[in-house]
Amino acid sequence: MHEVVKNHSDSLLSVRGITKSFGSNVVLKGVDLDVKAGEVVALIGGNGAGKSTLVKIIMGIYEKDDGRIYMDGEPVKLGKPSASLLQGIYLVPQEPMLFPNMTVEENVIMGFEEKRGDLHKRLTELIDHLGWKLDLSRKAATLSIAEQQLVELLRGLMRNSRLLILDEPTSSLTFNEVKSLFRIVMDLREKGIGIVYITHRLSEVFEIADQVLIMRDGIITLSGAVSEFTRDMLVAGLLPPDSQVQKAKDKSEASKIDYENTKPALIVDGLTGYGFSDISLEVYPGEILGLAGVVGAGRTELATTIFGRDVIKRGKVLIDGVDITGHSTKQVLDEGLNYVAEDRFLNGISASAM
Ligand code: ADP
Ligand code: MG
Repeated sequence: MHEVVKNHSDSLLSVRGITKSFGSNVVLKGVDLDVKAGEVVALIGGNGAGKSTLVKIIMGIYEKDDGRIYMDGEPVKLGKPSASLLQGIYLVPQEPMLFPNMTVEENVIMGFEEKRGDLHKRLTELIDHLGWKLDLSRKAATLSIAEQQLVELLRGLMRNSRLLILDEPTSSLTFNEVKSLFRIVMDLREKGIGIVYITHRLSEVFEIADQVLIMRDGIITLSGAVSEFTRDMLVAGLLPPDSQVQKAKDKSEASKIDYENTKPALIVDGLTGYGFSDISLEVYPGEILGLAGVVGAGRTELATTIFGRDVIKRGKVLIDGVDITGHSTKQVLDEGLNYVAEDRFLNGISASAM
């Protein structure tokens, strides 16, 4: 059963036949992955496909059930983060995990053995190079999710890793932050760093990756050089073989919302609160309304205010024609409104509703 190790000795990282279950849930069903030095490998796939679990195994956060991992063609025993760090592997996690009562700088330099002054110098140079605006003395608790993600990225970039894994790093970053991150990824690739880049944005695959892998239900269903694929091929690879998506699409075209004969489920009329003013919108049953804007534009504040968390200064909110302006979170929940928070660790439970 022993594979010839030399087969993949030109890879920085080789992963073979990784399996992992959580209880009866088989999450990884024999996954292979190769990353060469100076290569960006994009890993894509729907929610729950197993991407984060795979990279957590590589980082030693989870233990694999079965399979083998090689660095430079040599078998390595990972299983604790310290072993992965020693191999020069670093994972920037999907969900930021900062110490809330420590500053940005303290969070970044935690675990380094260099002198504090040297670290400070290296960190400020890095931030200058990136062109990011981040106050190093701020407490992590005061940072937005996007800013926390930047701190996690800084931690990874300060490590001078050989293999850097980025788990959906751009999901809450602004356009300019994404651009500067891509510059850095290109820089690192030039320097011969291997990069695993998890994303759900197909455009990013074409922009920065050399290789692409699609994972579905714990298996790699497609892999190869990005240049071999079109966007449509990747979209097809992401969908289950007996995909219902086309049918669903046909259906949605048929079920146009009848604006003449239905009433809006939600009406927001001239709403003004902390962080936004004079917002009016209507959402009809069966309709999805997108609310776009940059970080700090007031989208979250609008949502939490409608949800009864913050004070309404002016304007009205109606659900199914019933005025719920100024009602508490507990009341609006009963009245049929719900809210999925941006930071689910912090705000996933509406304590005020209990
Ligand atoms: P992805 O990153 O591709 O969205 P994940 O690796 O996060 O997928 O999750 C894959 C599956 O593993 C999901 O069904 C998820 O619920 C499950 N899972 C992930 N982490 C754990 C855990 N710590 N305990 C139990 N189940 C988990
Ligand atoms: Mg994930």
